[in-house]
Amino acid sequence: MTDHPVPPPLGVLLAPSTIAVIGASRRENTIGHQILHNLLTFGFTGAVYPVNPSARSICGVRAYAHVVDAPDPVDVGVVVVPKDRVVEAVEECGAAGVKGVVVISAGFREVGPEGLARERAVLEVVRRHGMRMIGPNCMGVINCDPAVSMNATFTGTMPPFGRAAFVSQSGALGLSVLDYAREYGIGISQFVSVGNKADVSGNDLLMQWENDPSVGVILMYVESFGNPARFLEIARRLTKRKPIIAVKSGRSRAGARAATSHTGALAASDVAVDALLAQAGVLRASSVEELFDMATAFGARALPRSRRTAVLTNAGGPGILAADAMEACGLDLAELSPATIDGLRPLFPAEASIHNPLDMIASATPAGYRAAMAALLNDPGIDAVVPIFVPPFGVKQEDVADAIVGGASANTEKTVLAVLMGREGLPQGRKELLAAGIPTYIFPESAARALSTLNRHVEWAARPAPPITTPAGVDRVAGRRIIDVARRDGRANLTQVESLDLLAAYGIPIARGMVAVTVDDAVAAAEELRYPVVLKILSSDIVHKTEVGAVRVGIGSARQLRDEYADLMARVRARAPAARIRGVLVQETARGLCETIAGVARDPAFGPLLMFGLGGVLVEALHDVVFRIAPVDDAEACSMLSSIRGAAMLGAFRGSPASDRNALASVIRRLGQLALDFPEILELDVNPLLARVQGATAIDARVRIG
Ligand code: ADP
Ligand code: MG
Repeated sequence: MTDHPVPPPLGVLLAPSTIAVIGASRRENTIGHQILHNLLTFGFTGAVYPVNPSARSICGVRAYAHVVDAPDPVDVGVVVVPKDRVVEAVEECGAAGVKGVVVISAGFREVGPEGLARERAVLEVVRRHGMRMIGPNCMGVINCDPAVSMNATFTGTMPPFGRAAFVSQSGALGLSVLDYAREYGIGISQFVSVGNKADVSGNDLLMQWENDPSVGVILMYVESFGNPARFLEIARRLTKRKPIIAVKSGRSRAGARAATSHTGALAASDVAVDALLAQAGVLRASSVEELFDMATAFGARALPRSRRTAVLTNAGGPGILAADAMEACGLDLAELSPATIDGLRPLFPAEASIHNPLDMIASATPAGYRAAMAALLNDPGIDAVVPIFVPPFGVKQEDVADAIVGGASANTEKTVLAVLMGREGLPQGRKELLAAGIPTYIFPESAARALSTLNRHVEWAARPAPPITTPAGVDRVAGRRIIDVARRDGRANLTQVESLDLLAAYGIPIARGMVAVTVDDAVAAAEELRYPVVLKILSSDIVHKTEVGAVRVGIGSARQLRDEYADLMARVRARAPAARIRGVLVQETARGLCETIAGVARDPAFGPLLMFGLGGVLVEALHDVVFRIAPVDDAEACSMLSSIRGAAMLGAFRGSPASDRNALASVIRRLGQLALDFPEILELDVNPLLARVQGATAIDARVRIG
């Protein structure tokens, strides 16, 4: 294995000087014909050699029986022979000194065990010769740079040249996206259909494009992550400089988990992917259409410096739609400055609304657009402007587009996204706007989403990313001791007390409590802890104590405690007769602002997942949780707190003060550390984790090991 030659960097595969098409065909409507045809038609700047033992020439180009017969050294072999002859063809490439192959042929891993064996055989040849391979089972490679102009696919068009690189796991989808690129005005620098990713992966391409100055934004269509940890590492760094926009389809295979905890059950969808993309700073698009909208946005002449946005419109409805959509995406419709208002007032009729949104009403002329654009862009309280135009009679869209471009030249350091609400298809004047760095949309909602995407990227890039350190006050030895006791006993679960002790060993504050095996013990414990106390059953056979009436809160006296104790025991014996009871846990009454849940689950591919959400007994009903992959830094833990739907619950709310977010974030980070230090922790729930004005307290915990 180790004596294999070192393969060349990916650059030569994406920008070769010479290409052999192995399996080139004279028959039209075959892939072997179409690929050669595309290389010739779209003006590949290097030399092309068709390889076919039974043809003298194809498409007017001299053909060769073998790669080695080509008159020049070959950089890349594009392989389109039937699956049984791929190994042989790649072997020939290797022997002829070819640097890399693009295997279009299908019939590999995707068809089952026999195909997988074939794929391994091809990969062995590739490695032995020190080559690189894209595919197999892919749709090829495009490089739109005029210096290369390579279209080694069988699509019918060549996208326009630009700064977006695109890697697609589905070749067909990728190519249909490229068909639209021209229409949407998205310039493509390179496109790679990675197919089965036997050798070259999405991660390899990210690393290649990270350092390619011609690539400004990266688009991905992803079905699966081969190496999520490496993706996270690369993308996290890369997205600080270049945006990555991804559409992910399919669900992760997280369902395989036997989930007994809340965290485990809630983790069983594609949350791991969401977590991975969020932590990597990748902008996730929910559809190909949204991918386009986002990609178009990055063609803006300037990125927004803040979320302070102004809307300009000639119709009330779209203005309100835009304002609503913007608010929903967290954009800030800032007040216009008095100077801006004073400047604009004389230009418009009295019915116009000189606020934000600025409604110039239907009589607005191109000159009105021009003046308003300039005024808004010169307002120091505004960093982005979204002009909206609904075509009335008498005003041409092209003229308004020109006026927007003209007005926008007043300040080119601010972001402008336009909305031209055409009746059919893409609006007139769009090209002029795009050329001026003004991405243009048909609907206000799309523009709002796109602008918010730009802001998200800017904020992510500005966010400090310190190396992740171990939280202070973590006692690994104590943690190890607790887990080892359970392992020695062959138990799959830690007891309630062990679980809480484990949290305490990692510096997570827990509610004070004492174990009692008789009612007299319980009274003594309550006296020491001070009333009011809480009484809970201690039994490994009872997972959710409340469900069997085995949690009693607000016990204010010894008498009440004796009553509750008797009642609790009777209830448990009636509802769970088989449960072995070890006694009761007497806990101090913890007081706080709101009950949250934090936890750990383990994904077979993504590793330990951290969860945070609004919780207590309502967690399943609310289903308001967010996941990240451990470990997380402070900023990431804080972003979890603000990512839940009910984030407002943690702020000052209806007269009650704000929760201590730092304390919650610290608990999340400590759980991450626990998950990393103890791979045997399969699932962990802290529920509730009580949010307080100062600090946070773990009240109940469950840990499953394996
Ligand atoms: P389980 O989850 O097994 O039903 P918990 O120990 O989480 O049992 O208790 C259920 C609920 O009782 C908690 O969500 C919380 O509202 C309340 N509770 C339990 N212990 C305390 C405590 N020490 N202080 C205040 N409230 C508590
Ligand atoms: Mg609980």
